Amino acid sequence: MHPRNSPDKYTDPVFETDLSDRLHRVAMQQAAGIAKSWRTNRQNAYDAYLEDLADYAEAKAKAEAWKVPLDQIGQEPVWHEWNLPELRVPCIQANANVVVVEKSEDSTFDYWLRISTLEKGNPLRVPVKLASYHKKALQDKTLNTSTTLHKRKGVWWLTLSFDEDVPLQTEPSAPHVGADVGIANFVTTSTGKHYGTFHGQLAKRHKRDRAKRRRKAKLRACLQKKGREKLPSTSSATGQRLGRQVRQEINRAVNLMIEDHPDARFIYEDLSVSSMRFKARSMNAYLYASNLAHIPEQIAWATAKRGMAAHTVKAAYSSQECHRCHYVDRANRPDQQTFLCRVCEYCNHADHNASLNLADRFGDKELAACKNKGEIKALLMSRHAAWKQTYGLAVVQPAVQLGLWDHPQASTDVAQR
Ligand SMILES: [Zn+2]
Repeated sequence: MHPRNSPDKYTDPVFETDLSDRLHRVAMQQAAGIAKSWRTNRQNAYDAYLEDLADYAEAKAKAEAWKVPLDQIGQEPVWHEWNLPELRVPCIQANANVVVVEKSEDSTFDYWLRISTLEKGNPLRVPVKLASYHKKALQDKTLNTSTTLHKRKGVWWLTLSFDEDVPLQTEPSAPHVGADVGIANFVTTSTGKHYGTFHGQLAKRHKRDRAKRRRKAKLRACLQKKGREKLPSTSSATGQRLGRQVRQEINRAVNLMIEDHPDARFIYEDLSVSSMRFKARSMNAYLYASNLAHIPEQIAWATAKRGMAAHTVKAAYSSQECHRCHYVDRANRPDQQTFLCRVCEYCNHADHNASLNLADRFGDKELAACKNKGEIKALLMSRHAAWKQTYGLAVVQPAVQLGLWDHPQASTDVAQR
């Protein structure tokens, strides 16, 4: 992006408005913030696409060299341009310059919302009444000065927030527990346990919801053709309910994981767009991506609430890297569940192998310093080379090793030599 075009919240106003200068500035700050994060997210997604494309080119070249059918390496990644964000719901993210929450001295209301108006010295005061559970949640808390006002279905909603500091309970010597995030298993820990899944009930509901949406879309198209003006909505109530159910299941899985490892220091992945896609690819479902992102969010939130230490590490190639010899290859995954190293024949559940890698990446300064996926792969392969030297294994040409695991009696465990 050209720096001249980058969102600037301090720039001169372009549009005329009835808003006061201060509210106008708040609106511009908010718009600039949205534009900035949209650009960052789109750029990250585009970079991930370029990396996918490079991966694909590499796999294709290998396949051609070894005369492997091209359909074995999957489909060439395609870039879909993102839509510009659209403002659908009026929303004011206000700071203390324009909206102030004041505790009410009167007992009728709990707070007053003081909103500045065009008339100087004549603010609008809106009474705020809290439900008893709101009161309980906010008891003895100091509210943050920024507030959010949302208009939904003709009603304004106020969002208040407060910061909570929970002292860290985790001991410095706490065991590192890696947590790998996935679809077949929401979370798999390096202790070898699985928690929750998108499969089973959720997948069935998901399928039903998709069928329902498809029917609805067909009906809409049909009515549109007939010139009907009022069309049934495309938003799906069951879809929203499903999203809620998935998040509930995720929360339950994460809480169980924490209960099982009360003294742990959790190491989990910084789930990027590309790693979400990598995980979703085999399921051929981008739909999982947003739900998948709720898992690390929940790990961060649930551990912070309990004062437990949790850290993110770079996740690139954690599912393709062999935990024993560090050899990185997509072909180390003969299927979604299995990890089988093509060099040392280390075999494990794929998610367990990944969670062990994640646990080891905590405090790995060399890996943290890598600037992109390419550098991470080069580092892991150099570690693999060092491993080979230590174990005196000759260079294995993967082309010769194809189908090696079909004849277990013909091979010996390298680590035993
Ligand atoms: Zn290996």
